[in-house]
Amino acid sequence: MKLRVIGSSGTFPVLGRPASGYLVEHAGTRVWCDAGPGTFVALPVDPDLVDAIVVSHQHPDHCADLFAAFQAWAYRPEPRTGVPLYAPESLWNRMSLFLDKGQGSNLHETFDFTPVWTGDSIELGEITVSFTEMDHSVPTVGSRWEANNRTLFFTGDTGPGGDWRELARDVDVLLCEAAYQGEAGTNPYPHHLTAGEAGQIARELGAKRLVLTHMPPYLDVSRSIHEAEVTFDRPVSAAIPGGSIDV
Ligand SMILES: [Zn+2]
Repeated sequence: MKLRVIGSSGTFPVLGRPASGYLVEHAGTRVWCDAGPGTFVALPVDPDLVDAIVVSHQHPDHCADLFAAFQAWAYRPEPRTGVPLYAPESLWNRMSLFLDKGQGSNLHETFDFTPVWTGDSIELGEITVSFTEMDHSVPTVGSRWEANNRTLFFTGDTGPGGDWRELARDVDVLLCEAAYQGEAGTNPYPHHLTAGEAGQIARELGAKRLVLTHMPPYLDVSRSIHEAEVTFDRPVSAAIPGGSIDV
């Protein structure tokens, strides 16, 4: 299974660094995971080759480019229809509200939406994706990706609370948000992690490798890596757009 990083910027994109977005590939299946702003135009493959989309939650830095994809697929001479889309139900409701009535019906043609939540599991080609609720301010799913006995867990956005860690145990790669730096518990917002907390959680889970993501552009990435290395005893790296990881 290959994890290709499209964007890893937290909260908002900057030039050359889209917000949250990845392409997970295995055995000819390509899944676009999170559609943050800037990710549609930066997809490393023709968007028509994307087999399915998985989105963690409704915050714009994770889903705004669903609208870019919708416009591109719906309003062209030969529209693309029925693209499988998996996300919490609230995301679909918000998207529908954003569009006017006519466009709203096109939305239902462009995407074949299936809500996902804790306990759900889907098969995308030879990849199995399982979901669990994360510790965030809106309904958010973390996802465990399994293929060929290799495993990846993506946190989406989360704080340290909740029951999500059960699904993230013993993974080969933990792709974990690290929106903050510095001492745990001093953040202005409890539903994100510091890099140190990400490292500590990776250690508890027995993850073999930690990849930090969702770092806002104003943070020094090397400092985040250092802080996670203090609390995690295995390799730490940062998700870099254009980079890829063999899970
Ligand atoms: Zn969020």
